[in-house]
Amino acid sequence: MLLYELSTSVTKLNGVGPAAAADLHNLGVHTIRDLLWLLPREYEDRQQTCPLIPQAGEHSWINTTVEIIAHDYFLFQGKHTLKIYVRDSEGQGCLVCFGRNFLARKLTVGSRHFLCGWFSVRYGDFQCSAFDSEPVSDSPRLFGRILPIYPLSGSLQQGRLRNLMQQAISHYGEQLDPSIPAKPGVAPGVVPTTAALRQVHLPPDMPAAEQGRAALAYEELFFMQARIALAVTARAQLHRPPPKRPPGLLQQLVNTLPFALTPDQRSSIDEIRADLCGTVPMRRLLHGDVGSGKTLVAICSALPVLEGGGQTVLLVPTELLAQQHLRTISALFAPLGIACELLCGSLSASRRREVLAGIQSGSSRFICATHAAFSRDVQYSDLQYIIVDEQHRFGVEQRQALIEKAGKFAHTGPDVLFMTATPIPRTLALTVFGDLQVSAITTMPPGRLPVLTHLARHGNEQKVYDWVRGELNAGRQAYFVYPLIRESSKLSIRDVESMAHYLKESVFPEFAVGVIHSETPVEQKEQIMQGFAQGSIQILAATSVIEVGVDVPNATCMVIEHAERFGLAALHQLRGRVGRGVHQSYCFLVYSEPLTEDAKQRLKVMKEHNDGFRIAEEDLNIRGPGDLAGIRQAGFLRLRAARLPQDMDIMNTARSHAFTLIQQDPQLEKAEHAAVRTALHMLEIEGDT
Ligand code: ADP
Ligand code: MG
Repeated sequence: MLLYELSTSVTKLNGVGPAAAADLHNLGVHTIRDLLWLLPREYEDRQQTCPLIPQAGEHSWINTTVEIIAHDYFLFQGKHTLKIYVRDSEGQGCLVCFGRNFLARKLTVGSRHFLCGWFSVRYGDFQCSAFDSEPVSDSPRLFGRILPIYPLSGSLQQGRLRNLMQQAISHYGEQLDPSIPAKPGVAPGVVPTTAALRQVHLPPDMPAAEQGRAALAYEELFFMQARIALAVTARAQLHRPPPKRPPGLLQQLVNTLPFALTPDQRSSIDEIRADLCGTVPMRRLLHGDVGSGKTLVAICSALPVLEGGGQTVLLVPTELLAQQHLRTISALFAPLGIACELLCGSLSASRRREVLAGIQSGSSRFICATHAAFSRDVQYSDLQYIIVDEQHRFGVEQRQALIEKAGKFAHTGPDVLFMTATPIPRTLALTVFGDLQVSAITTMPPGRLPVLTHLARHGNEQKVYDWVRGELNAGRQAYFVYPLIRESSKLSIRDVESMAHYLKESVFPEFAVGVIHSETPVEQKEQIMQGFAQGSIQILAATSVIEVGVDVPNATCMVIEHAERFGLAALHQLRGRVGRGVHQSYCFLVYSEPLTEDAKQRLKVMKEHNDGFRIAEEDLNIRGPGDLAGIRQAGFLRLRAARLPQDMDIMNTARSHAFTLIQQDPQLEKAEHAAVRTALHMLEIEGDT
């Protein structure tokens, strides 16, 4: 049996009723396999004893055996609250039992207990209020061992999860077959799956836990790379005669631009064109920080395809962006005599019929579209090139699905360009985009001034508003961003609707304010964006819908209220909406206290750094190793055991192992690769759901 074949439902385990099952589902756990892949987020090492010796500094971790000396009570918020004095061979301490007076019956005077918790010196006592204890015995349940700490959901508790793991391992996890054929010389230290699972969930010591994790990481990365290797081999087989894609229109456009392309834009266009004229369909990623000018590269790269008679779709994640691109591109294409069409969900039925007719007859050759590009009723006369803007919005799983879907609409394997500004650290690029060629724009168009970022506490925002007024008076424009659409009875957080009203009535009565959020009707959105782009609206109040792609160079102020509630990636994207023209731009991060430690860090990073790569790396640091939530949310990867970039060595070995294997056996037909084939198949099914 392979680990991947353990598709028995978790409800088969003892003690998993409907409530526990629902909590487990929230953690993504449906099957025994899912459960075994639910790895501890950390461990508590209770093998080390740390006696009751107060340390200088804030907190001391204590893990010791104590005798209960005395009970006492004090008044806390009008309630009698239990205080238990304890001592071990080295010193004394005191346990403060808020709301836990019943402990007097368990921790009786004179009895001996194992005890652990974080202690600090308070009011002259060395005390702790969140502790764990257990009567001294020969076989303690929770002491003298390494305790895995799992992510939780609902009313699920650590003890329950540990029990389920134990059951799963002893009933299902013993003697699992290896999924990856052993290869002498590679992956030293990799242990069999069964042992790895034991070591991770029931570790005898910390090095064993880490060894088990590394083994699972290897397995995980191997299969990820095997999928990439399969995609690469499959594409190499899509040979075609080199398409005819002449450079005439491209030259013409470049000559009429009011500015020169940056060297990186130029080389990216060259790289893309070489691919487009090549004998294998293109899969390329165009990477560049917000504002680096990716759109123009995309537009230029499409011209040879259009000139050669093919159709191009520019796929974007939102209608707002589709409309904006349509405006930009129509202006650039008009002198070349090329029309640009909009295809999105909100078109009226009659308009949609017209657009579809144009696409089918081939008279429309450049189409700006949302997901609607691949609705069933769309028929292309000759779709050859697909550009995916803000690809991180679509996600990595969807990326493959998109290509496959697009393939059904295109006559031959289409050429595909992905564009992204998600500043993914270099070290991760190989993992995430292992099957793509990469072009990068690393420099900004000339004349750009770095955006100046200021922090302001709520209560001091008047100063921010005054500064913005100065900019508006000088003819510039401003964004105000809020985390909520409308007032919430549960949260005391500012929302865009009330604040837009307030800004309009009380703060900036002399200026026009527009409001945009995800529920704004499409025509209205278009009208407002057009007004803002043309300058008849000076202030745009919005939610983070304007995070992606919006381009109005005259806007110089980005005010983000409740900035503490946004992640670093979103803050960086939002700030990228300003600093796009020749004027100095400003970003104001208005925050409410109290701030969590993480929020403080995020604001600090935003104040100190402008570079997207640097911010992404800081983001990884703040979230800590192993938690790639930001990137996961962005749809890049779902890794459970592997920690990147720390596991780069494991990743490189797994990659070379996987690529060698697929090269030798591209169809996975050999008997010794049956397990790999099955595992990949199971993973694929999982990925589709
Ligand atoms: P991205 O999509 O990479 O965030 P955009 O494509 O929206 O960036 O471009 C940002 C702005 O820079 C646009 O207003 C665009 O017209 C302008 N721009 C692009 N290339 C150049 C260039 N070479 N010189 C000056 N401005 C440019
Ligand atoms: Mg863009």
